[in-house]
Amino acid sequence: MKIGFIGLGNMGAPMAANLAKSHEVVGFDTIAAPAGLTLAQSAAAAAKDADVVITMLPNGDILRAVAAEIHPAMKAGAIHLDCSTVDVESARAVAAEAEAAGLSAIDAPVSGGIGGAVNGTLTFMAGGPAAAFATVEPLFAIMGQKAVHCGPSGNGQAAKICNNMILGVTMIATCEAFALADKLGLDRQAMFDVVSTSSGASWSVNAYCPAPGIGPQSPADNGYKPGFAAELMLKDLNLSQMAAEAVDADTPMGLAARDLYAHFVDDEDGRGKDFSAMLPRFETRKRS
Ligand code: NAD
Repeated sequence: MKIGFIGLGNMGAPMAANLAKSHEVVGFDTIAAPAGLTLAQSAAAAAKDADVVITMLPNGDILRAVAAEIHPAMKAGAIHLDCSTVDVESARAVAAEAEAAGLSAIDAPVSGGIGGAVNGTLTFMAGGPAAAFATVEPLFAIMGQKAVHCGPSGNGQAAKICNNMILGVTMIATCEAFALADKLGLDRQAMFDVVSTSSGASWSVNAYCPAPGIGPQSPADNGYKPGFAAELMLKDLNLSQMAAEAVDADTPMGLAARDLYAHFVDDEDGRGKDFSAMLPRFETRKRS
């Protein structure tokens, strides 16, 4: 396949590099110019002859702007595969514009972070027409280890923000519980041994324990260097609140998690730290 790849940042560059091992890839980024990849002078030029154009961009506004530039340049029947994490509304608007231009669109945000992008072990959650999903499935198999078709356009983004809302809430719950356990004189290893095999178990406890030296290796064992940065968690929690407002869904825990991460990132030196660094934050606090 001929692939255009737009947005060659932390995630896009290694994803494009993995695809370039077995496909013809032409990339474009306004700033980044990773070595070893054929680069075009503009997004439209990268998209022009491609069967599939992949975008991996920071947010919905940039996605909409890039989509408006590339859709007129893409050949009839080509697929716009957006792997960015954006708001559901932008994903659905871009898909509708693609369809109106005689193209197909798939929104397929990823889970797995930079390590997953480098190692080709991402998980994709996809929304869009089944035929287009089937066409891009071999590309998912190169860039990742799993792709789930979640339904029509926007449903990939819906799955991503719902998953990450659970993750934000469970990480906060895990961190406050460890901080409480400390104050109650409970040994952290004992706390982990009980919770990880009891009804409090979750991915945040079992696979990504925020307490250093406890459980499998995690960013807590590396000075809370991300991993998954607190500001990226905040981005996703903001997206889930935007979506909840749009459909009038009551999400009090998601809202509380968003507000805590906003406070952590903006006022408490949380920017640039892993999102599990909520544990040292709670350690230093009292009830009021
Ligand atoms: P990044 O900031 O490293 O990369 C984004 C790239 O887009 C940059 O290189 C930037 O120059 C480029 N760009 C911006 N505007 C552009 C335009 N108009 N045309 C072409 N290129 C443009 O971000 P990232 O970490 O690679 O994340 C990309 C997306 O993946 C985001 O939506 C993010 O939420 C999502 N994501 C990131 C992670 C992670 O761990 N980094 C994990 C899951 C999902």
